[in-house]
Amino acid sequence: MPRILLVEDEPAIADTLVYALTGECHEVNHVLTGAEALEMQAGAPHDLAILDVGLPDMTGFELCRKLREKWEIPILFLTARDDELDRVLGLEIGGDDYVTKPFSPREVAARVRAILRRSSGGVVEKKAESGEVSGLSLDNSSKRIICGGVRLDLTAHEFKLASVLIRHPEQVFSRDQLLEHAWDDPGAVTDRTVDAHVKSLRAKLRAAKAGAEELITTRRGLGYAYSPEGC
Ligand code: CA
Repeated sequence: MPRILLVEDEPAIADTLVYALTGECHEVNHVLTGAEALEMQAGAPHDLAILDVGLPDMTGFELCRKLREKWEIPILFLTARDDELDRVLGLEIGGDDYVTKPFSPREVAARVRAILRRSSGGVVEKKAESGEVSGLSLDNSSKRIICGGVRLDLTAHEFKLASVLIRHPEQVFSRDQLLEHAWDDPGAVTDRTVDAHVKSLRAKLRAAKAGAEELITTRRGLGYAYSPEGC
């Protein structure tokens, strides 16, 4: 049963979501503040987090950042205002999806299903069952990337960089965005650092399976993307 962390300080909204999600056989743990959410996640990690952007003790964005420092957890934002939505869409935060208030619980449940379907655990299992090896899989629990049935031996930065790309297929990330996601101190390194790590990541992909290096594509003047369809 997927475990969902719901962080929402408005009881009426939280109640309808808890009702809708438990009705779909999810286990929902609801807390009111960011601090409680971090504590609960540390106690037993969840498969997905739903974060209200306006929380009493920190913004949902700050909470997202703190969660992502330790866990590769998919995140769905609940936004209330246009300026919040702008930040989510600007991807400076790195959420997986969002819904704007007011929303129907049914809509949120559908988004949750979609995120869980494409998130790592399920993907790894499915590929193992079918023997299909065309793309890359992310195994969150072991923090490994799987390519052609081979678990890659990656550095921490290579893993973080690859996992950002894999979680968002076909989405182009600029070098700055990748630095932001994969380095604790992005100011201390340069664009060239990203290029160097992509190069070593591609070499490891090629070693695991010929042609797999083409899964990480260069978009000239824009950045990099994970393109499973192109392979
Ligand atoms: Ca709120």
